[in-house]
Amino acid sequence: MPNAALIVAAGRGSRAAGHGATGVPKQYAPLAGRSVLARTLAVFLEHPAIHRIGVVVHPDDIDRYEAQTSRDGGKLLPPCFGGTTRQQSVLSGLEALRICAPDRVLIHDAARPFVDAQQVDDVLAALDAHAGAIAAIPITDTVKHAGVDRLITRNIERAGLWGAQTPQGFHFTAILAAHRAAHAAGRNDFTDDAAVAEWHGLRVAIVPGNPRNVKITTAEDLALAQHELASGAGPDVRTGTGFDVHRFTTGACVWLCGIRIAHTHALEGHSDADVGLHALTDALLGAIGDGDIGQHFPPSDPRWKGAASHLFLSDARRRIAALGGTISNVDITLLCEAPKIASHRQAMRERIAAILEVSVARVGVKATTTEGLGFTGRREGIAAMATATVILPPSAGP
Ligand code: MG
Repeated sequence: MPNAALIVAAGRGSRAAGHGATGVPKQYAPLAGRSVLARTLAVFLEHPAIHRIGVVVHPDDIDRYEAQTSRDGGKLLPPCFGGTTRQQSVLSGLEALRICAPDRVLIHDAARPFVDAQQVDDVLAALDAHAGAIAAIPITDTVKHAGVDRLITRNIERAGLWGAQTPQGFHFTAILAAHRAAHAAGRNDFTDDAAVAEWHGLRVAIVPGNPRNVKITTAEDLALAQHELASGAGPDVRTGTGFDVHRFTTGACVWLCGIRIAHTHALEGHSDADVGLHALTDALLGAIGDGDIGQHFPPSDPRWKGAASHLFLSDARRRIAALGGTISNVDITLLCEAPKIASHRQAMRERIAAILEVSVARVGVKATTTEGLGFTGRREGIAAMATATVILPPSAGP
């Protein structure tokens, strides 16, 4: 006695259209690394009491559908095409499911990706005693009726009111007959399958639903679901470190952390030799595992001769932004006997904050001598080390 699930994914999702720049229907929109539909399907694919799954799709979405699903394990039947209304789409899907002759079918909206195994169990179990059973939640808000002018005309008694969700489960031959009869009678105004069943004389029971099992209808719903999944997964925090050295040569100024400082010497290098910004650029690249400054801006390339190092730092910022990441903080330590850094510290922080488009509070600049020891102690050059913390969205990478 096989149980089937019918996933209704044929809607055009016009209320959530404009997602990103693509206008992808909401059921195909990405939700923390997987599409809404893929998340919905996974619940039924993994449920041991569901033996076959049919999906109703819009013909325009077939490429998207094929790209997001695989028919491994044989549970998932080839998709079928929906009609112009949800009711027609369900009828098409039920007709297609006849091939596997299920005893029971759970009809579920693709745009409810937070359905869980318990809901599936509860609706299936209720079908032992009833012709139909749906997940629903009691309405807790006070319910008003208002006219088109949005003036309240009456209060509606809240007791006994439930908000219908899906899955909605039925004995297969009964719901197929109900949908066929509704179609034959020209009734295409039912907004869910329970209404079709009731119209056809079936008794439909309610099983308590889960408030998390929301339908993603608008772009705001999608954003909220993204946020909830992201907060559930926790932030994807990355750190990186960088280190750099440049030797002194003849000259009258050095560039340090984007600031020009008069000095007895200059720093030698292919670019402006800003040792602080070089270490920081490597720290940012390290946080996202994207090579190093020498790889992206090879010293052998004449384009970077004498280049201002803020270009390198801006490039690292862009690479992080392209992953949807944000820079949480950066911290630089300069190691040198001279020049003295303290009077330039604030200007350095402000310059770095401007390049990275973060607040100054997220930028640390410190300096230390090495007590006369080593090459920095002998005033042969300046060393810098840096750390960076970057927060990526959960979907940005494994
Ligand atoms: Mg360097």
